[in-house]
Amino acid sequence: MGYDEINSRNVSVFGRVGCIAGNIHMNSRSRVWTGGSRLSEEEVDVLIVGAGLGGLACSLLLAQAGVRVLIVEKADAVGGRARLIRKDGFVFDRGPTFFHYPEVAEEIFGALGLDAHESLGLLPLDPGYRLIFGQGGYLDATTDIDRMEAQIESLAGPEEAKGFRRYLADNRRKLALSKDCLNTPWKGPADLFSKRALRISRVLRPWKTVASDLARFFKDERLQLATSFQTKYLGMSPFQAPSLFTFLAFLEYEFGIFHPRGGLGSITETMAKIGREKGVRIRLSESVESLCFEGKRVVGVRTNRGGYSCDRVVMNADFATGIRKLVPNRLRKKWSDEKIETKRYSCSTFMLYLGIDRVYDTPHHQIYASAHYHRNLNDIMGQHGATGHLGRSVYLRSERLCHRPLFGPGWVFDSLCSGSRTSCKRFGRLDLDSR
Ligand SMILES: Cc1cc2nc3c(=O)[nH]c(=O)nc-3n(C[C@H](O)[C@H](O)[C@H](O)COP(=O)(O)OP(=O)(O)OC[C@H]3O[C@@H](n4cnc5c(N)ncnc54)[C@H](O)[C@@H]3O)c2cc1C
Repeated sequence: MGYDEINSRNVSVFGRVGCIAGNIHMNSRSRVWTGGSRLSEEEVDVLIVGAGLGGLACSLLLAQAGVRVLIVEKADAVGGRARLIRKDGFVFDRGPTFFHYPEVAEEIFGALGLDAHESLGLLPLDPGYRLIFGQGGYLDATTDIDRMEAQIESLAGPEEAKGFRRYLADNRRKLALSKDCLNTPWKGPADLFSKRALRISRVLRPWKTVASDLARFFKDERLQLATSFQTKYLGMSPFQAPSLFTFLAFLEYEFGIFHPRGGLGSITETMAKIGREKGVRIRLSESVESLCFEGKRVVGVRTNRGGYSCDRVVMNADFATGIRKLVPNRLRKKWSDEKIETKRYSCSTFMLYLGIDRVYDTPHHQIYASAHYHRNLNDIMGQHGATGHLGRSVYLRSERLCHRPLFGPGWVFDSLCSGSRTSCKRFGRLDLDSR
């Protein structure tokens, strides 16, 4: 579940946060918390809270640099939101199903001397997904731009096809400029008036939303939708998200969409395996209850089983929950409980994991975008409520690409608010109800 304005994916290193956690103090000589629980004798340089994608990625890079890493994970398996669910011979991805922008994985695996595509068994998808419009017609999203242009021309006419080329060129420039810029440190307020800040403000157009920016390229609502629904990945409506995020769809057309052979959750299992080979220790079914401070430094954590001392702690639990649980309110200047209370969770999804007894010949990812998409979004974002029958949008993922014996033809329904009976009909006559 996302959190407005709080990026729960941020990895926060608390080593430099000067605060004292509750009334827990450590007597390092006896290695016993004054609270009474036993402190482990293990040598730990960096302790990571949470074995999700972020915690695991961090552990790999640190272990590669020779750091002694311990991950403490409260669940009984690694993966967090990107975890596999195994049931009755079927394997499902618990959360994420779309793998795009492989550059991030390439960088992490590259730092370990590994090839991400090989290590994760990444299969390029073509089409990346099928987008079916409630108003009529569909697009098969592909990195083959000539094919995209031909599809768009037959769906909405030559002007929209030309608009697509302009959209790609604009976003290619936007990504190049903003990426270079964001990768360079911002040292202070003066940087906001620097030449580079002004240069990106022209391409980022912060005064526009994704939807209004896209209207410069497309008149047809279906094309606007095809290049904007991706803001929902971040829990945002394209009618509210800043125009910076028009590049989300661009990333899909430019770099493609991939599928790891064992499902998205297999990425976390592979990362954990590589980490263990590099000496990363992972404690499962152990929950960090609080961070412990000595002066201005975090010097350890207390868990439900005891505690560990360490030089640094990386907190990769969900920010909104983790920060409140692990760091006392009085020590948090920026993210006090009062401030967090004023924020709202962005919407998540309602998922159905269906194990069925036959294989359908359909694209791996299919999205049905309601004819009443705008109303659908308003209901979800504004009212936090389910839309009526006509307004629903549905995403269907078929797991048939995973040709491992363990995988049955499992399906994931990722629906904003829908029941399966209606949803199946949106994708043609899939007789899923009886399966
Ligand atoms: C339904 C859904 C669909 C998504 N689809 C996509 C997609 O298609 N593509 C995509 O790229 N992203 C997708 N995402 C987002 C993606 O799943 C997340 O960004 C990513 O998995 C977050 O990883 P993380 O390591 O930051 O956090 P998490 O996965 O939340 O990991 C945090 C870990 O910390 C552990 N933890 C928490 N508190 C404690 C504690 N006190 N002590 C010990 N352990 C603790 C948790 O058990 C968990 O394992 C989706 C998310 C959801 C929910």
